[in-house]
Amino acid sequence: ENTIVWFRRDLRTADMPTFLAAAASAERSIGVFVFDPVLLKPSGVRRRDALYACLRELDEKLGGRLLVISGDPVVEIPKLAALTGAKQVHVSADFGPYGALRDARIAEKVDLVRTGSPFAVAPGRVTKDDGSPYKVFTPFFRSWLDHGWRAPAKTSADTVAWADADTFSEVQRTEIPDSRTVCPVGEAAALRQWKDFLDDGVASYHEHRDRPDFDDTSRMSVHLKFGTIHPRTMLEDLAGRDGDGPKEFRRQLAWRDFYGDVLHHNPESARRNLDRKFDAMRHDSGEDAWMRWEAWCEGQTGYPIVDAGMRQLRDEGWMHNRVRMIVASFLVKDLHLPWWWGARHFMRNLVDGDLPANQHGWQWVAGSGTDAAPYFRIFNPITQGKRFDPDGDYVRRWVPELRGIAGSKVHTVGDRGDKIENYPQPIVDHKEERREALDRYERIKR
Ligand code: FAD
Repeated sequence: ENTIVWFRRDLRTADMPTFLAAAASAERSIGVFVFDPVLLKPSGVRRRDALYACLRELDEKLGGRLLVISGDPVVEIPKLAALTGAKQVHVSADFGPYGALRDARIAEKVDLVRTGSPFAVAPGRVTKDDGSPYKVFTPFFRSWLDHGWRAPAKTSADTVAWADADTFSEVQRTEIPDSRTVCPVGEAAALRQWKDFLDDGVASYHEHRDRPDFDDTSRMSVHLKFGTIHPRTMLEDLAGRDGDGPKEFRRQLAWRDFYGDVLHHNPESARRNLDRKFDAMRHDSGEDAWMRWEAWCEGQTGYPIVDAGMRQLRDEGWMHNRVRMIVASFLVKDLHLPWWWGARHFMRNLVDGDLPANQHGWQWVAGSGTDAAPYFRIFNPITQGKRFDPDGDYVRRWVPELRGIAGSKVHTVGDRGDKIENYPQPIVDHKEERREALDRYERIKR
């Protein structure tokens, strides 16, 4: 008898509770991945390339027996179940707005067994005493720690007897496209990188995590995105380690769960303001606004830290967290453009682009999200640059036009009115735009 293991964003073989459930329910399992155009289209070439690389590795681990098909999973999964005589379809639960709806529709047609989720603690589990969800991070975090998480599941590719995909000749298969990835991805790379970070990075994580010039955060986001490692595995490895580094790192993993929880309870917040008061916020429009938008996307704003970040995104598909906050604040509060424009640009370009962290990272900065009282917090891009990239190394790494300027002076070229060949003057005056932003915020708060 057959069953199906449908891989989605859990492209690994270790710590896979779905394998245990599948192996207990049938003799053989068919491992399948579906290319869904709805999810592929907004992904951008970088994330798609990373996905293909992860799938090639997974296929190899399954002895070349991963069945890859294309189409709408609501049609394709029930069809596959019928063709192969599979009684059940095993997945790890998807809590995203699109995925949850898709799964509900599939569950009307087949026996969809959800085991585990991509989170340490699944959305909906951490609640206040009265059962309602948390709206603010810190109390969520305390409760999340109290709740705890399961130990990693002991699995490997051999936990399941994989059916040979060639047996099902009626199934229309898709080749995994060739790809070129800029960063190492896949399960082996994830475990290797995690081990290196445990040996060499986590102890001082709390000291450096806000410094883009050091560039020594874990870079695990792409692996967590594709589920080539589970956060539970990481938390288990952190358990024996005291100290502020591991503690701070655990807190960041809790942010990931928190945003998953917020989006689960407010699926519409993927597209709209969580705080609906912000629907009244006035945004700039017209030709000037478009030109500023383009300057932001291209890293040509004349604010060095903003331009460095946007160029890192363009060239690497990744950006340091502190710089994500700075460029987001600049788009929303200096250029007065909607956060969802920036969020879409990020989703298209980030290799780790992930709906809950991205949309709520943006809403947090915009003030329409989960931060309690942020509207008066307007990052000054120059002060932020001087504080978090004190010697200017990060800016010089990404903005070659400024390589001739030593030390932290690199952050103040626009302020000093220096003319630098090929580098733009600031496209807006931060002090003026700050006042304008505060004024607009005041109006909607009233
Ligand atoms: P580390 O500092 O090593 O953190 C370890 C892990 O903790 C990360 O991999 C991530 O899974 C989690 N984490 C850390 N900070 C956050 C956070 N603020 N919110 C949620 N999870 C966090 N993260 C994404 O994974 N995908 C996104 O699309 C994304 N978009 C963002 C957009 C904006 C505007 C902002 C401000 C933040 C965004 N983040 C996003 C969160 C954060 O910037 C990245 O997770 C982090 O920079 C990834 O690098 P790292 O793995 O080296 O992080």
